Amino acid sequence: MHISKMEVKVSELIKGYHEDTETSRVVAWGGKLDVRPEYQREYVYDDKHRDAVINSVLQWFPLGIMYFVLRPDGSYEVLDGQQRIISICRYARNMFSVKIPSKTLPGKFDIVNRPNLYEGQAQKFEEYPLQVYVCEGDDEEKIDWFQVINLAGVALEDQEIRNAVLHSAWLTDAKSAFSRRNCPAHKHYGKYMSGDYIRQKYLETVFRWAADAEGITGKKAVDQYMMAHREDASADALWKYYEDVFKWVTKTFGPYNSNMKGVEWGLLYNHHKDDHLDPDELQQRVKELMADNEVQKKSNIYEYLLTGEAKILNLRAFDEADRVTMYHRQGGKCAMCGLPFEFKEMHGDHIIPWSKGGKTTLDNGQMLCAKCNLKKSNY
Ligand SMILES: [Zn+2]
Repeated sequence: MHISKMEVKVSELIKGYHEDTETSRVVAWGGKLDVRPEYQREYVYDDKHRDAVINSVLQWFPLGIMYFVLRPDGSYEVLDGQQRIISICRYARNMFSVKIPSKTLPGKFDIVNRPNLYEGQAQKFEEYPLQVYVCEGDDEEKIDWFQVINLAGVALEDQEIRNAVLHSAWLTDAKSAFSRRNCPAHKHYGKYMSGDYIRQKYLETVFRWAADAEGITGKKAVDQYMMAHREDASADALWKYYEDVFKWVTKTFGPYNSNMKGVEWGLLYNHHKDDHLDPDELQQRVKELMADNEVQKKSNIYEYLLTGEAKILNLRAFDEADRVTMYHRQGGKCAMCGLPFEFKEMHGDHIIPWSKGGKTTLDNGQMLCAKCNLKKSNY
């Protein structure tokens, strides 16, 4: 991994500046700088700060360090600095004017465009040195590096960072299906998904699911999955997988309802698609559990029905007031072993567990010592 610092003068930066309105691709620095690499193209340009950028340049105030990535072909792409670069280049192209403090009327402002800069200011503008860090290294190093910069304030999501490093035709294809505005992943199944798809949340989720389907799990699963597939010709297989997940969901659990949003459907599909499930029975159980006040985490009902893990339902527990009542009702003694304990050493217990129809009510409650509670702990 190699990180170097360099200066780029504004006069160099603005050479060959071009904005392609069709693709929203932007190049500068004689064509060798990709100002809006693909993973940043969805961002809408915000022109609120552009006057401040130009004022800083004209007065030689620091603009903050920019980050470029050196590509294998010797060109660069902007990781951080897009807005500043576009402001400078647009100003250089006389695409807008800025308000700057007047030289002749103190306290007043002049609206100045590039051709009308004061004497000496044009030269200052051209000679302004931009401070740039350039990163080169292998893909894993770059991902680590980006995550570090991210901490310093470049607000990129993890998946945006991966996209920056691991770009390929396959990834471009995957992004057009999962993260482009009005992409099919959002149009058809967005209601089941959570997070901001423009900011790559669906893409990250589907990569994680697809990785799990191939047995790739753990913290680095998405990185590993992307590295394994980046040379694929297209993302058709990924799209088919995604569709299969939701076809299975519909077949198994019926039509959509709002509790289905954000469920880890891909993981459930991976591990239960071959189970012998009875959709009618399952959907009846879903209805019952949805109506059950004891179940506090409704969106986990689907996973519970497939795995039997009652813990994830976040079942109701006795609150402090109930526990105090039961404690005094029992005279401070454990309902099983009969020994006396401090209140804080005891646990509220359902006499009839939830799994057998017991509710969180005083007539179904008792206080147990830690030891007895552990012995009993069945739902
Ligand atoms: Zn006890």
